Amino acid sequence: DVRVRFCPSPTGIPHVGMVRTALFNWAEARHTGGTFVFRIEDTDAQRDSEESFNQIIEALDWLGIDWDEGIRVGGPDGPYRQSERGPIYHDVAKKLLDAGYAYESFSTPEEIEARNVAAGRPKEFGYDGYDRNLTEEQKAAFRAEGRQPALRIRMPDEDITFNDLIRGEITFKAGSVPDYVIVRPNGDPLYTLTNPVDDALMRINVVLRGEDLLSSTPRQIVLYRYLIEMGIAKEMPLFGHMPYVMGQGNKKLSKRDPESNLFLHREHGFIKEGLLNYLALLGWSIGPDRDIFTMDEMIKAFDVRDVKANPARFDLDKATAINAEHIRMLEPQDFLDRSVPYLFRDGVVSADSWDALSDHEREVLTAAAPLVQTRVRLLGEVAGMVGSLLSDDAYIPPEDDAKKQLKATAGEVLDAAIAALNAVPEDEWKTDHLHETLNKALIEEGGYKPRVAFGPVRVALSGRRVSPPLFESMEIIGKPLTMQRLEGLRT
Ligand code: GLU
Repeated sequence: DVRVRFCPSPTGIPHVGMVRTALFNWAEARHTGGTFVFRIEDTDAQRDSEESFNQIIEALDWLGIDWDEGIRVGGPDGPYRQSERGPIYHDVAKKLLDAGYAYESFSTPEEIEARNVAAGRPKEFGYDGYDRNLTEEQKAAFRAEGRQPALRIRMPDEDITFNDLIRGEITFKAGSVPDYVIVRPNGDPLYTLTNPVDDALMRINVVLRGEDLLSSTPRQIVLYRYLIEMGIAKEMPLFGHMPYVMGQGNKKLSKRDPESNLFLHREHGFIKEGLLNYLALLGWSIGPDRDIFTMDEMIKAFDVRDVKANPARFDLDKATAINAEHIRMLEPQDFLDRSVPYLFRDGVVSADSWDALSDHEREVLTAAAPLVQTRVRLLGEVAGMVGSLLSDDAYIPPEDDAKKQLKATAGEVLDAAIAALNAVPEDEWKTDHLHETLNKALIEEGGYKPRVAFGPVRVALSGRRVSPPLFESMEIIGKPLTMQRLEGLRT
């Protein structure tokens, strides 16, 4: 029974790397019928925040990544916030100390550095094992000076090898990992202790996480061995380290990059299906030449062993194109329901949910949906497409790049369009007929090229260079408003 976990530290806005980690663990759990545990690693009071904690939950909820045990849902191994598990860590730390796997270390960072310099070792050498074998008298003397010890794990003097699910065999040479601190002198347990202890107590058997944590793996393996010796852990988990996510210029995508901010993508109008599909491609693929898939398809196909080790690049254009495909796959009413909050935000409709809209708004949006759904890549683009259809303004000021569409002939074109359309009776004000009418008047009789002919009409009706299809728009807007707008731009 596969047991995986997602255990973020709540130190900022949810970012794409974090969500990719959640997604792959979730997919592994769902593919295998295993268990997905969600805990929060909030042992760093300086950096952790309640706001970030809530945002992480909001992100998972939005994306539909659900979990079986952990935060909010509970489970047999709770509590699932590390800040509430202090006594557990102290108990394990004491056992490690009593068994000799951990020892008290009184060296200050300055002393460690001074010893390294004196011995001609590089500054970054790290801790030298000085306190490994202190006698009781020496410890008492340190305590008499008012010092409190940190607890360090005793690293064995041997190579540490493990078989990474994604990267294959990895060896850390003997002596390359110094004895490390698991409890601070003030008694605070560190990630180095809390993470493997919780993995052990929560019976995690597959640890799937980012490459940035690879350097902590040899330490955790050693601690795990001790936990197994002491009967606290049952078996060593398997480890898999997912590739870095790179940003622009092939630099690691940093949490401060706007492109890494999950909520910013949501604000722009990524739908969860599109974003998840794209995030799944950061290190994994469902098959050659296939980019578009649903989460059900991902779950069916996912296997951590197929995750690639080489860095993945976050490509916003590609992500956006994939999002467009998923927007197209939505049921029209679903598309509208999801668009309304964006339309409301952008001041184009009167309420933020479909049911609260006016009849007129609902009518226009229903008519416009098929025209718009195939033309936007992000829900944030819907407002620009439907704004002029919903507005009853007689004049829509042209946007800057739309003005360029208005060539010297725009005036004559509009006059010819106005004359031809005036002759169309209201009950024949339908897309096909409007198309024929303007084709005849402007292209056949007027001799204009289509772009020269329809550009000014489009700008008059929408104020934009790109809009939903013209004749459909005219039908939706209706004759009186269409005429007003054509004349409005004319004068
Ligand atoms: N709390 C750690 C982090 O957010 C999790 C590390 C892990 O997955 O082992 O980086």
